[in-house]
Amino acid sequence: MSKNLYKNILWIVLTFIIFSFVFSFLIEPTAKPKEISMGELTRKINSGEVNQIKVSGDEIKIELKDKSQATAKKENEAGITETLKNLGVSETALQNVDLKVESQSGWQFWAGILIPTLLPILIIGLIFWMMFRQAKTGVNQAFNFGRSNLRLSTFGKEKILFKDVAGLKEAKEELVEVVEFLKNPKKFQDLGAKIPRGVLLVGLPGTGKTLLARAVAGESNVPFFHISASEFVEMFVGVGASRTRDAFLTAKKASPAILFIDEIDAVGRQRGAGLGGGNDEREQTLNQILVELDGFDRETRVIVLAATNRPDILDPALLRPGRFDRRVILDLPDLNDREEILKIHAQEKPLGKDIDFKKVAQRTPGFSGADLANLMNEGAIQAARQNRKFIIQEDLLESVEKVLLGPERRSRAISPKEKEITAYHEAGHAVVAASLKNSDPVHKVTIISRGLAGGYTLKLPIEERHLRTKSQFVSELAVMMGGFVAEKTTFGDISTGASNDLKEASELARKLVTKYGMSETLGPRTFGSTEELIFLGREIATEKNYSEKTAMKIDEEIAKFIGHAYDLAQKIIKTQKKALEKIAQTLLEKETLEQDDFYNLLKPFKIRPLAT
Ligand code: ADP
Ligand code: MG
Ligand code: ZN
Repeated sequence: MSKNLYKNILWIVLTFIIFSFVFSFLIEPTAKPKEISMGELTRKINSGEVNQIKVSGDEIKIELKDKSQATAKKENEAGITETLKNLGVSETALQNVDLKVESQSGWQFWAGILIPTLLPILIIGLIFWMMFRQAKTGVNQAFNFGRSNLRLSTFGKEKILFKDVAGLKEAKEELVEVVEFLKNPKKFQDLGAKIPRGVLLVGLPGTGKTLLARAVAGESNVPFFHISASEFVEMFVGVGASRTRDAFLTAKKASPAILFIDEIDAVGRQRGAGLGGGNDEREQTLNQILVELDGFDRETRVIVLAATNRPDILDPALLRPGRFDRRVILDLPDLNDREEILKIHAQEKPLGKDIDFKKVAQRTPGFSGADLANLMNEGAIQAARQNRKFIIQEDLLESVEKVLLGPERRSRAISPKEKEITAYHEAGHAVVAASLKNSDPVHKVTIISRGLAGGYTLKLPIEERHLRTKSQFVSELAVMMGGFVAEKTTFGDISTGASNDLKEASELARKLVTKYGMSETLGPRTFGSTEELIFLGREIATEKNYSEKTAMKIDEEIAKFIGHAYDLAQKIIKTQKKALEKIAQTLLEKETLEQDDFYNLLKPFKIRPLAT
């Protein structure tokens, strides 16, 4: 604050200097004429030296015969002729002088009086005013801490409608109904139905929760208030509860209205679990939200919409009937939805004729809406980088991998030997994948390094999968081993390039045994209960709820899965040695093989895929 004050004072002084400068120019002429006394003026008039006299106020401007200028001052009230006569100017001499009396123009007169007297007072006043104002905003800010930063509907400029949200059919239907409740409550009340109070949007990050809420704002035509739960507890301790109260109050005043609390998990975590004891800020805020939700009577037409990607950590009290009793689940988009989302985000982008969104959608299982939006953007950047005026399919496919694995690193210098090892390693993955019935088809094999991977084999499921079977897992493990085995059989040595494969294979095998009950010996049960540390929201510790003996058995079973996968991969690589050779050599030459090229190369070897 004091810094500001100094700045202000500096400004005032500066303006003052500028003002006085300007005024001094206006009021006084640049070259200051000599000032003479009235007596001298009298003498000059009498001796006929004076050509013209201009009187304005008490100022007398004199022009002499020799064109030089002079000034004089008279008493303000006295008339000029009178004064001169009194001083002894002769009648005749005066007649020879061109005498002009100018009535002083208003502003000049007032400026002459006011500026010297009033300006300092004004400036001092201004300084005081600024000081007070600053002190006051400080105080006001202190009082404003408890006010919510509730924003009315706007959500940025552009209006989002349901048509801008692809897929999410059920979620949209549910929300359309909610809006209908607000617009036409009687229809529901006549049937004895209660208006829902809270609707919880649940979905992984990037599945479109915020987007959908914006669409509700765009469609509903009722006031839509929007706050992010983290704003409840920003900065200062102790304001969460009052901000919550304020937010609900604002919404109630505007009813019928929708209040949207984004990322509610920021405050809605289970109570009594966080750090800072049972009385921390977040808990108080949560309590207040509960109180406010209960405080709505049935006539209050306010619906609270909230979004979270962690419904599992929400306090159960929030989910009780009468609070957030409706849950709308936003799934990751399926194949068709992905195509739709891509189309929506392609709308303002120039596209080449070869663009096939279906193919891109097929390559992107597990992508969220946000990933797909990002993908389209990356595609556009890729096209711009190559100075093309439109986006082609290649740009999109390249972006898929970029989003998945990071940017290509063509420049990474690798020796010919390393290149060869990578080629055989990747060929190993690919050939094993092609030789197993339950493995996903290979979409691409490459030895161009990308992100952290030296090369990679892209396999994708043919169709959307929600459940996975043991035989699929077994195939997957064998494919993971494929790289390792190929290196070993080709070079008789192994490199660090397989370490990530081994790590993933071990983790997967452990899951098969301890989580999915897929081990024959240990049978259908799970081992170890994972605990979550609530304030981190992450699994950090797995409690060992089994004996040392079982632990040993688990290790044995994991080893069995890995061993079996290894044998399987080895069997395939041994029988398909020629195919492996062919693929690896082609990779060394071309660096990348697309799906069709890859399977064409394998045709002569007549591989008959094994069932696992
Ligand atoms: P979150 O669920 O994390 O709140 P957002 O709603 O912020 O996700 O989504 C992020 C971005 O992803 C959106 O701005 C939008 O561009 C895109 N997006 C996500 N889902 C969809 C969808 N179903 N249709 C169209 N775009 C989507
Ligand atoms: Mg969001
Ligand atoms: Zn590998």
